[in-house]
Amino acid sequence: MGGSAKRLSNVRARMRKCLGCGLEFPKSTLLRIVRSTAGEVSVDLSGIESGRGAYLCSNAECVLKARKKNALARVLKRPVDSEIYSRIAEHIQRGRNDGIA
Ligand SMILES: [Zn+2]
Repeated sequence: MGGSAKRLSNVRARMRKCLGCGLEFPKSTLLRIVRSTAGEVSVDLSGIESGRGAYLCSNAECVLKARKKNALARVLKRPVDSEIYSRIAEHIQRGRNDGIA
């Protein structure tokens, strides 16, 4: 017994919630936005930068939703300028094109 519950919690530990749709996804499939210890907000393409992280799935609508709700700024406790949002949108767009090609 117990063994399967433990495995389940390990899987859940790697799940993160998208700020747009609110659904959980494996961390590796999400785009991470990080606020560094210096307080700078950036798109963390490596996914390993230290700091407070926020996550968005690869759905362009979620970026729009997060932007509308100002969700990133709320989670990161830092103002997030529109440049960050356009970088996220750009990255999602690019990822999608790569997938088709
Ligand atoms: Zn989403």
